[in-house]
This record gives sequence, C-alpha cells and structure tokens, in this order.
Amino acid sequence: MGYLALKQLEMAKKLDSSVALLQWKDWKWQMGHAIRDIRTFERLTGVEFSDEEREELEKTIQRFPMSITPYYLSLINPGDVRNDPVFKQCFPSPAELIIEKCDMEDPLAEDRDSPVEGITHRYPDRVLFLVSNVCAMYCRHCTRKRKVGNVDYIPDRERIEKGLRYIRNNPRIRDVLLSGGDPLMLPDEYLDWILTELRNIPHVEVIRIGTRVPVVLPYRITDDLVAVLKKHHPLWINTHFNHPKEMTPASREALCKLADAGIPLGNQSVLLAGINDCPEIMKNLVHRLVQNRVRPYYLFQCDLAEGLAHFRTSVSKGIEIIENLIGHTTGFAVPTFVVDAPGGGGKIPLMPNYLISLATNKVVLRNYEGVITTYTEPDMYRSVKCEGDCDKCPLDYSTEDVGDKEVGIARLLSDRDSTIALVPKNGRYTNRYHV
Ligand SMILES: *Cc1c(COP(=O)(O)O)cnc(C)c1O
Repeated sequence: MGYLALKQLEMAKKLDSSVALLQWKDWKWQMGHAIRDIRTFERLTGVEFSDEEREELEKTIQRFPMSITPYYLSLINPGDVRNDPVFKQCFPSPAELIIEKCDMEDPLAEDRDSPVEGITHRYPDRVLFLVSNVCAMYCRHCTRKRKVGNVDYIPDRERIEKGLRYIRNNPRIRDVLLSGGDPLMLPDEYLDWILTELRNIPHVEVIRIGTRVPVVLPYRITDDLVAVLKKHHPLWINTHFNHPKEMTPASREALCKLADAGIPLGNQSVLLAGINDCPEIMKNLVHRLVQNRVRPYYLFQCDLAEGLAHFRTSVSKGIEIIENLIGHTTGFAVPTFVVDAPGGGGKIPLMPNYLISLATNKVVLRNYEGVITTYTEPDMYRSVKCEGDCDKCPLDYSTEDVGDKEVGIARLLSDRDSTIALVPKNGRYTNRYHV
C-alpha cells in the first residue's frame, strides 16, 4: 500500500470506525463524510489552530460555508498547510471577509442575462444551463460564491423543464453547457433524463458538462455514470485542475474512463495567487493534463467576486505564463488566457504580442525565442468580396444554413455591412457635444 493510501485509510478510520477500504472509494460515503467544520478538520489532519484563529475561521464559514471531501483533504500536506495548494483551495481564510471596492456579488452578470431561471444566454448560439446546486467540494475561489451553500438542492423536473423549453424554442442554440453546482452530482438517472431531453432537440449539436468531480471526488466517475454519458455523444467535458498536485492516481483513473468512453476532455484553470501563479507550475500542470488526454482550454483571470480579493493576481502574471508556454511546449498544451469581463461582457482572450509591425505586403513578427522575422504577403492575392449571397459566391459553402450577420468588430470588417464605427448607446460618446 502506498503512502497516500495508508494516510487515506487512517483518515477514514477517524471518520467512521467501521469503514472498510472499499468504502473510501464509494462516492456516496465520501459525500456523507464531507468535512464541514474546523474541529473535524483539526482532528483529521492534526493541524491545530489557536482559539482566536478558530473563531475567525468559524466566522468565515458562517458567511461562506466549507465542505471538503475526505479524498481531497487527504491530499493536504499537514506539515505545511499554509503553503499547500490543496489546503488553500478548500480551507477558509479570514481574508475572504475582506470586500474590496471593485468586488461584485455577481461579477459576470449571470443573473441579469438570465431569461429563465437556471439559464444564462450571453452568446447567440450557446447557453449556460445551471442544473445542480450541489458541489462535491466548495472551492474557496468559486466565482459563484454568492450561491455556495445556499441550501444544496437539486432543481426538480419542473424547473429543469423550464430551461429545456427555452432551449427548444430557440433554434439558434446549438451548444448547451451544463454547469452548476456540479452536474455530475446529480443521480445517474436524473442526468440521463436531462441529457436525453437535450439530445431530442434537433438544433442542439453539442452538449458540454463543466465539472470538478475528477479533481475533488474522482470516485464519482463510476462505470455506470460513464455508461450514461456515453449514450449522448457528442458530449464534451471540461474539468478544473489548478495544480499538478491534484493529478493523483485516482484522478488519472477517472480521466482515463471518460477518455476511453470517447469524451473529449478539456480543463479550465483559474490563476490563483500563491497556488499556481508561476510559469513552472503551470507548465507542469499542462504537461500532466495532456499526458492524461485532457486539453488545457482556458486559464481564467480570477473574477471580481466578493471574497476572492486575496486570490487575485495581476493580469500581467497570466501573460507571463502564456509567454512561457507558447513555443516552449506542445501547442495543444497551451490554454487560452481569458478575462471574463465584469458586467457580463463574456470572455476576452489575452496573449503577448507577436506582431511587431506591418507595411504593404510585409509583416514583421517575433517568435518565442525573440527572433524577429518577416513574412511577405502575396502581391496577387485578392480576397473574395462577400455580398452575403452564398449562391453567387465562387467558394463552395457546402451547407444549407447561411450564417447570421456579423456582430461586433467582425461587423466592422465585413464587406456586406456599411457600419464604420461602433458607438456605445447611451454612452457619453453619443452626447459628447451636449452640455
Ligand atoms: C463561458 C461561457 C460560455 C461558453 O463559452 P466558450 O468560450 O464557448 O467556452 C457560454 N455562456 C456563458 C454565459 C459563459 O460564461
């Protein structure tokens, strides 16, 4: 038995004296024995807090509750908790009670952009559908911290049906992203029902699930669950590893089951101060991910949600990390660094500049080593002018549905739109000659 397994068994015995080793791997046992108070944490890890510290911590969990699976807790190094990336992600810090001026309850305006309960519809062709209010573990850096611990509940069929109806009635929605809470905390049959209903909607091409279960409760990825997921392809899963320490044998096994079921796997990390704000840690993490068939998808700048101030880094730290990845490692191991715009603007990608200058038919670029190079553009190239009529176009579009008109900057670039500027409505710009 390895060191980790021994430690886990010892911990399990403290929680449940009649426990058998097999039960440790039972996700329901794990959920039933989640650590939700400071004293139990101390008893299990041997870490001791002063009375004053304990009081502060208890005040913190009254506002933002704590819940840690025994599995995730077992990854903590009790000898040095204050520098432990697992500890910092699951254990409260009194710093969460510091609210900064820029902090917002709902920084991404998910509630405002919600046409029916549970749905956030921000992009024309895809929606976020919150189908569960339950999480295996409460991440201290949760962007939906405002909702954490609001009584864990599973929306009933009637509520889910409202969201499904909205999707059915909107033929432009081709991509549905299930999130929560954690959708994989739903019972298998319930999840199967939701996926079946979604699959019966002809315009829904892709279903995605966002889940942290492979990181905090890998035993939830049972053969039965995988059998359910597998029925509803194309189904994609995005998970949420933030540190290489989280890639344990149990997590690897869970990822392997999902990948073997043909589910494309992605990962969304959050850039967190004192946890992964280091190019070497991030490089190590993305290597562990691709080794386990998980494609790094996004690296998020930490949101302006209340209680997250102590986790936030500068934006430049994200750029520095990307500078250390592009060219230095496998192309598909590099995530896109994004800021999710406060106020509901959606995700905005950022990266270092590789374009140095431009002239007629010539582009000056630099590579990851700092080599400055040129690319000469062809003299004879003429782009096909788009009149918006695909039948008359020499390019073979090979599909029936013609795309929507462009929006945003793409509209400024379009041949078939005469818009020359985007001017904010009700902004100062429109009234700039007014007193
Ligand atoms: C992130 C997000 C999506 C999905 O965005 P992708 O860039 O396609 O992954 C959809 N809706 C909302 C509200 C989101 O926040």
